[in-house]
Amino acid sequence: MLKLDLHVHSSYSNRHGHLECFNNVEVIRQATKKTGINALSITDHDTLSYNKLKPKLKSLFLLPGVEISTKQGHLLAYGIKEPIKPKLDVFEAVARVREQNGLVIVPHPFSFKGLAFRTAKLKPDAVEIFNSINFSTLDKLSEYYVKNNNLKACSGSDSHFPLTIGATYVEVNCEPKVDEVIEHLRKGRFKIKIIRRAGLIDKLRWAGFALFGAKKLFLREDSLLINHEK
Ligand SMILES: [Zn+2]
Ligand SMILES: [Zn+2]
Repeated sequence: MLKLDLHVHSSYSNRHGHLECFNNVEVIRQATKKTGINALSITDHDTLSYNKLKPKLKSLFLLPGVEISTKQGHLLAYGIKEPIKPKLDVFEAVARVREQNGLVIVPHPFSFKGLAFRTAKLKPDAVEIFNSINFSTLDKLSEYYVKNNNLKACSGSDSHFPLTIGATYVEVNCEPKVDEVIEHLRKGRFKIKIIRRAGLIDKLRWAGFALFGAKKLFLREDSLLINHEK
């Protein structure tokens, strides 16, 4: 059984001159061991880090993924090999993912950089109704929207800091092979498991680290990470 967190960022997300993600390879290894997660998609912002991370995370099944910054908001794509440029119109970005036979998921539709009421028109394979760093009321709104529009629901931790890796995952009962996992996800053959939502304290520590780099003040020993991937 694969326990797959579909939406995790690594330090490869820190490419555009800002530090926002504290999950380096060692932290990802430790956190997944602790939570029993055996599969991840590292969906870094506008970069396919799969090929760089795969040899470093051999004990985990990795599903190739990326979070694309489209003109209108964030879009998750899975199973693609060619990168997709940021800032495209979202409908064009979806078409490019489909050309590569990739899977399309709309993350956090009603939060910052969410695709909101365009979501259904994009005909995604699934929509996040639980995002561990989102506000619960916004996730409730996503859940309501998904039901009303007959869309499929999924979840993702959207982890940018160690404590949230595996805060939610989907259970997929298939072989750890990219094509099989994609097919199961496409057909909705998975179960959503929710463990926890990041609390205010988690977010303050994350923000504190991001703003001041005050590791010792804001991060406990068990969640610290030092060597950022270049
Ligand atoms: Zn996002
Ligand atoms: Zn994200």
